[in-house]
Amino acid sequence: MELVKISDSEYQKIAQEFGTPVYVYHAESIEHQYQRLLNAFPSVNVKLHYALKALNNINVLRILKAQGAGLDAVSIQEVQLGLRAGFAPSEIMYTPNCVDFAEIKEAVALGVHINIDNISILEHFGHEFGATVPCCIRLNPHIMAGGHSHISVGHIDSKFGISIYQLRHVLRVVESLKIKVNGLHMHTGSDILDAEVFLRGAELLFDAARSFKDLEFMDFGSGFKVGYKPNDIVTDIEEIGEKISAAFVTFCEEYGRKLELWFEPGKFIVSESGSLLVKANVIKQTTSTVFVGVDSGQNHLIRPMFYDAYHHIENISHADGAMRLYSVVGYICETDTLGYDRKLQEVREGDVLRIHNAGAYGFSMSNNYNARLRPAEVLVRNGEAHLIRRREVLDDLIRSEIELEGLI
Ligand SMILES: *Cc1c(COP(=O)(O)O)cnc(C)c1O
Repeated sequence: MELVKISDSEYQKIAQEFGTPVYVYHAESIEHQYQRLLNAFPSVNVKLHYALKALNNINVLRILKAQGAGLDAVSIQEVQLGLRAGFAPSEIMYTPNCVDFAEIKEAVALGVHINIDNISILEHFGHEFGATVPCCIRLNPHIMAGGHSHISVGHIDSKFGISIYQLRHVLRVVESLKIKVNGLHMHTGSDILDAEVFLRGAELLFDAARSFKDLEFMDFGSGFKVGYKPNDIVTDIEEIGEKISAAFVTFCEEYGRKLELWFEPGKFIVSESGSLLVKANVIKQTTSTVFVGVDSGQNHLIRPMFYDAYHHIENISHADGAMRLYSVVGYICETDTLGYDRKLQEVREGDVLRIHNAGAYGFSMSNNYNARLRPAEVLVRNGEAHLIRRREVLDDLIRSEIELEGLI
């Protein structure tokens, strides 16, 4: 199935109709990525829980629900968004970190799957629920994912998961308190390129699984990489799928029961589907470079500043312009660079630039710094553009403020 992408002229029309800055998502691309991942594991019972922290607009959640996805939620609010979007509690995995036990009790009451990543919480859970509520245990196998250190969470200093070296202690708690462990989980980071790295983590989880009798699933988290630069090396999903499936089938035979294989992709599903369209407000020549100053910034797309992430940028208003070198920066009073030393078709004030790979951790990490309003979101489906979130207005910024009368 060849995916037909949104053309530059369609993006231009969207910028005209809805204004800039605007996030644009392509429904078919989301479905395409979901199906690609699903089809990479043909021989096992695979279940994909979309990590909604990447992009949580209700319409995107419903696209994935229609595809048969479940959800991976990291907060009680994400659980509630999932339920509102129509997911059944049994389709939602709740994977919190460092939350109050009260929030876990709330999630239990809502009936979602519970993933526990701390021994003190596990003990608390056992005392409270014993064998009546099953839970999954998040282990940290301490394998290093490639790529940027900020997005590797499986390493030794990580705050996530229970160390695989603490397995004996985990088992002691589980056995003493009669906890029913229905799944084991690992999520090692965001940039696993290599099937071998993934498999090393999987083998450690299989080893641990031999000590648990009630397992129904194994959850290998995410780590599927997508291309950000035009020639980036990306996860070979088909190769990883084949190798993990084979290892999983062997494990299940040994374990004596066919378990489900779960993943929690975020970025892989929605990153490439999304673009942020911005307008060039000013061209500013300085002694060292030419800046393009746009009507957006790190308040709308924080990844370049936060992770040093590369997001490809194109000038869609001047496709036949000569290539020139620019630094693309935002309008926030803070270092606010979206792209250094980029070759772009000559940019004129008023041109629309398309920032690629903005579907994941774009809008969902946006904020109101400098009292700037967050962009609109548009979903393109069957070639038609639909507004799925209106642009913010000033009232949105002050809605929760309480104005004191007579005190000041
Ligand atoms: C963020 C997260 C994911 C998704 O990671 P991606 O890199 O976006 O695929 C999956 N599982 C957990 C527990 C997460 O915190």
